[in-house]
Amino acid sequence: MAGMGSSPFKKCINPSCNLTYEINNSTLVCKCGSFLDIIYQYNYSRELIHVFYQRRNHGGNIYNESGVWRFRELINFAHLDTEDLEECSRVLVSLDGSEGRQSKPYKMKKVSEYAQVDNDSLLLQPEGYNPSGSFKDNGMSTAVTHAKMINMNRIICASTGNTSASAAMYAANENIECEVYVPKGEIAPGKLGQAFQFGAQVIEVDGNFDDALTYSLKEAQQVGAYTVNSINPFRIEGQKTIIYRALEYLDWNPPDWIVYPGGALGNTSSCGKALIELYNLGWIKKIPRLLVVNAEGANTFYELTNGVFGGEKLTWNRGRPNIRLINDYYKGKDREGVKPHTKATAIQIGKPANLIKALRSIDFTNGIVMQVSDQEMSDGMALVGLNGFDCEMASGAVPAGIRKLRQQEIIKKDDVVVGILTGKQKDPKLSIEYHLNRSNTFSKPPVAK
Ligand SMILES: *Cc1c(COP(=O)(O)O)cnc(C)c1O
Ligand SMILES: [Zn+2]
Repeated sequence: MAGMGSSPFKKCINPSCNLTYEINNSTLVCKCGSFLDIIYQYNYSRELIHVFYQRRNHGGNIYNESGVWRFRELINFAHLDTEDLEECSRVLVSLDGSEGRQSKPYKMKKVSEYAQVDNDSLLLQPEGYNPSGSFKDNGMSTAVTHAKMINMNRIICASTGNTSASAAMYAANENIECEVYVPKGEIAPGKLGQAFQFGAQVIEVDGNFDDALTYSLKEAQQVGAYTVNSINPFRIEGQKTIIYRALEYLDWNPPDWIVYPGGALGNTSSCGKALIELYNLGWIKKIPRLLVVNAEGANTFYELTNGVFGGEKLTWNRGRPNIRLINDYYKGKDREGVKPHTKATAIQIGKPANLIKALRSIDFTNGIVMQVSDQEMSDGMALVGLNGFDCEMASGAVPAGIRKLRQQEIIKKDDVVVGILTGKQKDPKLSIEYHLNRSNTFSKPPVAK
């Protein structure tokens, strides 16, 4: 097929190391401890955007129906001839074409009014409309594809709930084992229910997400299980398609801003990688600015990049960020016994695994990292609901963040803004509590008869 160069490979992101690894082995993190990128050597032409679009008329082919695999040339780590559908179906993992199928940008009038952005230029993309109810399915389909490519039949993860739901769903569908480490009592009931429902082995950790991740990585190493957290570079590949779908909606004219909530920063990393690759391929000329929104109670990325800690702003610095600053920050938090705390449990993370890759994304896009309160996220979540769309509290960080930057006049009124609503509501208690409380701006309390 045209544009097909030599095989992709994995490469360490640390320029002082630069080690490479072949795709078909189980190495997910470099020997030096740094994360890996998937590097492609294809030179696909921009004309492919028409092929991507035509595939929406899928004719029953699940790899065209899938909003992930529809863009398979841009995530072709399996080095397939992507037009040979039989070859694709032997390798690519899909939940019957449903991942990414229903998520694309929508206009939400009440949110644009609230954020004071023109209605035509604010676009929100509900990734909660994925089969397991969050954006995680985009990257899980690709990670499980790689697991199968190297014959792993046991996957493992730590999760604030949505990663485990997604992993368990794909594992069940592919008939492989799945173990999920969750912080006990700190994940939404709807998410925990999914892990059980899909037959995963749940391991409840007496600690927070950061502790659960430590345990699961240790276990993975001991038993030879395959980690599907976002430290896994194949997760990052699938999540690039979130951006492709947004760009497709805009006829591949990049917006001015792309906005995500920030948790472990896998999304932030994948967005940056997607844009870097499209730019290098010459498919886009303009680079959107990335806005990452932390919860005030889990604001590591915000504090480090804004120089709140140690007086120095942490930056990518051409692949050589100040690691000592990061370690000192974590040591300080541990010493003071400070744990991340927010009702938006999906982003209640103190040590974002993808911090370094996320710095690269901020650097490439001249991005901004900010923080919002739990109240602001709840208001954002409620407003999305008032437009007929469902999202969870962590996703509420997106409208809240856009509004704040708009107030500061950093986002202009007619800037084109794409916000990613990462997941749907799986903790109905939060919606009910919000509306029962009259003091909330958008509440509509029930009436008794
Ligand atoms: C996982 C998750 C996040 C955080 O995404 P990262 O890529 O870890 O930053 C945010 N919102 C929801 C709903 C999630 O499930
Ligand atoms: Zn390395």
